[in-house]
Amino acid sequence: MLLMLAITANAQRSDSDLKRCATAELDSIRTGQNPELLLRRQKAEEVIQEHIHRHNARIRTSAEAVITIPVVVHIVHNRSDNRIGGLGNSNISEEQIQSQIDVLNEDYSNTSGRKGFYTDSLSVDTGIRFRLAGIVRNSTRQENFDYRTADKQLAALSPPWATNRYLNIWVCNFSSEYLGMAQMPSIAEANGSTPGLRVGDEEDSDPLTDGAIIDWRYFGRDLSGETSGIYNLGRTTTHEVGHWLGLLHIWGNRTCGTDYCDDTPRARDRNLSTDLNCEAKYSNCDGPLSRDMIENYMDYSPDACMSVFTNDQKNRMHAVLAVSPRRAQLVEHIGRSESNLVVDLYPNPVEGYLNTNIYSPGYAGFEISVFNNSGVEMLKGAYNQTYINVKNFPAGVYFLKVTTDKETVTKRFLVR
Ligand SMILES: [Zn+2]
Repeated sequence: MLLMLAITANAQRSDSDLKRCATAELDSIRTGQNPELLLRRQKAEEVIQEHIHRHNARIRTSAEAVITIPVVVHIVHNRSDNRIGGLGNSNISEEQIQSQIDVLNEDYSNTSGRKGFYTDSLSVDTGIRFRLAGIVRNSTRQENFDYRTADKQLAALSPPWATNRYLNIWVCNFSSEYLGMAQMPSIAEANGSTPGLRVGDEEDSDPLTDGAIIDWRYFGRDLSGETSGIYNLGRTTTHEVGHWLGLLHIWGNRTCGTDYCDDTPRARDRNLSTDLNCEAKYSNCDGPLSRDMIENYMDYSPDACMSVFTNDQKNRMHAVLAVSPRRAQLVEHIGRSESNLVVDLYPNPVEGYLNTNIYSPGYAGFEISVFNNSGVEMLKGAYNQTYINVKNFPAGVYFLKVTTDKETVTKRFLVR
């Protein structure tokens, strides 16, 4: 009897046990282990706020060109026969993947057609869109992933495509009650205004784990027979991509905290309600009771209750796209139109990780190889990779070769 109960509990996750997002939990573990990170975050926040205030007078309007972010989806499943789709299969179909891209575009353009309490006046078109640039499928014997270690494990199983050109989303089976998580954008790491804030390994791995991780049952819309009754519209990914673009939870991850957006009312706590009628919830953070914006994508409300990104959230996302080095490079790539392959390396000389900024016309895929001075191949055919670990390379001269199906560019660099 006990055994049966245990099996049932394992197979069925109740809606009320589910938690939208592990981003804040993971972050508090990281900052607990590395208090310097908090200082770096404060500096990053200053950079974001400064940018918003400086550009406030000429914030983009919906008439301006939108930014369309290329997305690569990594499906990490444990189907040894690699069958795609069907009940109970984490190797989800292409149709299911495309439905998630559709949801992102509806939510970020404010055309979902599902309005909550707050109607048009506060819900805006963010001016950000998404397009599916690639699907990578990898199978593993690992049955599930713990949110505390998933990012590095997934990056090793399915290496990210250049995180300064693409939004990488890993879809996997989470072991716990969380539906998703994301890596907050780096702001200060390469920003000239905050030297001396590098904090070692944590930062080194950042480019390799930059993206969002979503449990397969909540990726895309209405995965029949698999998904939860309240997290079934693909808005876990809308929420996590919001984090990836620098948005915080509307309660600021503490009692009556701040998300640095003035037009999201201060909320005492997250909305953990599973009520599909989207009942109102109130806080008294500033004295009198005010209604929480439970419709905001950055709350924990049921998918059907969500419908709002605000203007301040839009401005914050665009500020992050401008001041976060990898996000800014991503935007820059979208706008480039040269007809030749361009490769920049930095730092050079290097120790640790070599960064590359690679432009290939039309987003052509590329392969990277590294040779030493004697012509020995140190790294072979890494597809769409831009961060090369050279920690174990002996000091000396190396050559990085980037190849598309049309062109090859070779650059020299020094490991010290
Ligand atoms: Zn979250």
